[in-house]
Amino acid sequence: MNIVFVSVEVAPYSKAGGLADVAGSLPQALAPYVNAVQVLTPLYSQIDRIKYDIQTTAIKGKISLGKKIIPYALHQTMDIDGKTKIGFIECDQFFGRDGIYTESDGEGFADNNLRYFFFQMVVLDLISSGSIPVDILHCNDHHTGLLPLMMKTLQLKVRTIFTIHNFLYHGHFSAEELNLLPGSTKTLLTKTQWDNYSALLEGIDHSDIVTTVSPGYALELLAGLNVDVHSLKRIQAVKANFSGIVNGIDTEYWSPERDQYIPFHFSKDDLDGKRKNKAALLAKVGLAPDMDAPLLGSISRLVENKGFPLINKLLDEFVELGAKFIFLGSGSPEITDQLRKASKRHPQHIAFDDGFNEPLAHLIEAGSDMFLMPSRLEPCGLNQLYSLRYGTIPIVHRTGGLGDTVDPWTADSGTGFVFEPYDINELRKTMGLALKVYHSGSDWVKLMQRAMSMDFSWDQSAKQYFRLYNL
Ligand code: ADP
Repeated sequence: MNIVFVSVEVAPYSKAGGLADVAGSLPQALAPYVNAVQVLTPLYSQIDRIKYDIQTTAIKGKISLGKKIIPYALHQTMDIDGKTKIGFIECDQFFGRDGIYTESDGEGFADNNLRYFFFQMVVLDLISSGSIPVDILHCNDHHTGLLPLMMKTLQLKVRTIFTIHNFLYHGHFSAEELNLLPGSTKTLLTKTQWDNYSALLEGIDHSDIVTTVSPGYALELLAGLNVDVHSLKRIQAVKANFSGIVNGIDTEYWSPERDQYIPFHFSKDDLDGKRKNKAALLAKVGLAPDMDAPLLGSISRLVENKGFPLINKLLDEFVELGAKFIFLGSGSPEITDQLRKASKRHPQHIAFDDGFNEPLAHLIEAGSDMFLMPSRLEPCGLNQLYSLRYGTIPIVHRTGGLGDTVDPWTADSGTGFVFEPYDINELRKTMGLALKVYHSGSDWVKLMQRAMSMDFSWDQSAKQYFRLYNL
């Protein structure tokens, strides 16, 4: 069985969020079960060709996009496991930029739809020309949502699977843009209620199998939570082929015992290093070295859905209670401004690093006591999984994958603090409880050890994908 896994971000080569982590680790987890796994992704300028030994191949082609003919070339490297091939599609006009989705000011590229059309047409070209053998084509999110339909038009014996990593992003495009697609594809698309098209919904309509990244989120989508009526009909139409599989994590890269980015390694049986990482983190971000104060970490795209409206209202009162906060993230100018102001008001208690910083993300996971992730909705979420592994107790809203992966604390069970409904008073109460348990001492150590005993490796989930591939 040959698997082709298509994603516009793949860690460690390019990353904006959780999709990259999944695309960087699921293919490796699948490799033992199948003949070959080939990942396909764009070659962005930010990707370090020398570091990752990315080689030019002889495979090249041309794509007609409207009136233009645009050339591409395939580059390749072997992933760290030595089994998974990563193919990078080079086209300077579309991918020769540092950003994956956005300009440096956070604004989405004006030609994103064209970039994704082109990317998908290249994937199709590589498959139809026989350059890349495929039995299962695994597409991810709206950027690859048109591929299942495009594959159908080729009439090859290929099964398609489409994974929804986030239903909020549809990749809408207009009837005018539609004319850029190959003729056989465009007649088969369905308009949305806004008189445009949704690449996400096309992926759902035309794949053999549809999945999302947690069972909880699958149920929420089928129940119509945060889903418009038109989209709901289209999801419900594929209900029989739709399921949720929780994301795994790369347990080598995110390992308190081996993490390359943290100064002190630790394990659930030897937590000494965790305290030392806390001291290192406080010093690194310029917070007062008060080791007994609870330190709450956050690593996130700065968007409203991650719960920042609630967090922002509670910061001052929890600083009063002695808590410290470290925020790492970039995104919305409004949230950036709020966090910047909060850190100016409380320079000894709140630190904010505005940007994308992989090493700091690891140190925050290792050095914080708790991880604040009160997302309004969260398809799966990865940071709560990394946090559990590092004994950094997650505080989460019971939604999607957060509800599936964090068990609410009780005196002798549970792995984190869970609140619902999404409401400031519930979050306040839950953060208050977390602080109380933290100050109780021995209960906290047991809680950390329980969290660190959880297994979120890819094993189980990769087997579930493999079963679906074989259906
Ligand atoms: P989403 O995909 O919605 O952004 P996830 O929790 O699934 O959320 O995954 C986010 C991933 O991106 C995690 O690996 C997280 O550590 C990483 N990340 C997000 N923002 C930053 C940042 N500013 N610096 C470093 N890593 C980040």
